[in-house]
Amino acid sequence: MKKNARSEGPSRPSPLKKWHGKPYNSFGDYLWDTYGARVLKLPLNAGLSCPNRDGSVGSRGCVFCGEDGSASSSAAAGDTLTVQMRKAKDGFNRSERDTRYIAYFQAFTNTYAPVQTLKKIYDTAIAGPGITGLMIGTRPDCLPDETLDLIAGYKREGFELWLEIGMQSCHDASLAFMDRGHTHNDTRDAVTRAAARGIPVCVHVILGIPGETWADMMETAVEISSLPVSGVKIHHLHVIKSTRLEELYLRGMVRVLGLREYVSTVCDFIERLRVNILIHRLLGDRSAESLLAPPWGLRKGTVIRAIEEEFSRRGTAQGFLRREKE
Ligand code: SF4
Repeated sequence: MKKNARSEGPSRPSPLKKWHGKPYNSFGDYLWDTYGARVLKLPLNAGLSCPNRDGSVGSRGCVFCGEDGSASSSAAAGDTLTVQMRKAKDGFNRSERDTRYIAYFQAFTNTYAPVQTLKKIYDTAIAGPGITGLMIGTRPDCLPDETLDLIAGYKREGFELWLEIGMQSCHDASLAFMDRGHTHNDTRDAVTRAAARGIPVCVHVILGIPGETWADMMETAVEISSLPVSGVKIHHLHVIKSTRLEELYLRGMVRVLGLREYVSTVCDFIERLRVNILIHRLLGDRSAESLLAPPWGLRKGTVIRAIEEEFSRRGTAQGFLRREKE
């Protein structure tokens, strides 16, 4: 990968900031600080589809998306939300006394229904015992104003609310390669309308998209920092079995980043992020059964340690290469 724009050094580096000794502003630490308790996400399946699968926008889905609608944790679509929540809590096996939960709609497009249907789904989720928050994952082209108005109401009610939007990249050529069926303008528009309603937005991005240079990825970091974004989930491009990306990978048409390459790139990326953007995730998260490549994606702790060591070696942290005043 060619680093063809490394000249964008800081004229006045931001002061090095540490968050609980970490070189980045971690969402997990933010939850500890806010609630003084362990906060766990309960993955829920609302039983909704996706316009990029049902023919409205496309019928093949995104190139990297598997049967599970890009969920890193599974929840049975056949169970009611109440049953899904109980099963997920049982899986954590924790005392209710010192634990809180976020109802997390991750798989597929969780705003792809009429607003009254969505209200029933979200209301059922937040009514569960111990639920302190609501996370809703969706596409940027599936957020009409009335849906955003509904979602904003949960923030006003005091829930830990996050709207997760699949941005992936700020480059339309990359979005086209991945068959996303939307443009970056859709993301800009959705983020702006959500933030205007006080909704905290977390964008998902992928590093290592075929065809993207190092400079392209850094442009995405700069673009995120220029938008009213409150959080980011960073993923490496990984190949999930039974996807179209798998076919391309097996035919040698795409490559994935090596571990050291990813660690270096993700540090470069975070150095360009605003310091008040919470980092929800540092790498993609998949089960061993569904993952084809790269194998290092299964060693989450090792990768996170390597990222922190790289920051320590550089003496930098999140926001170090931001030019603007925070
Ligand atoms: S928008 Fe999400 S659920 Fe739909 S095909 Fe793409 S990754 Fe899968």
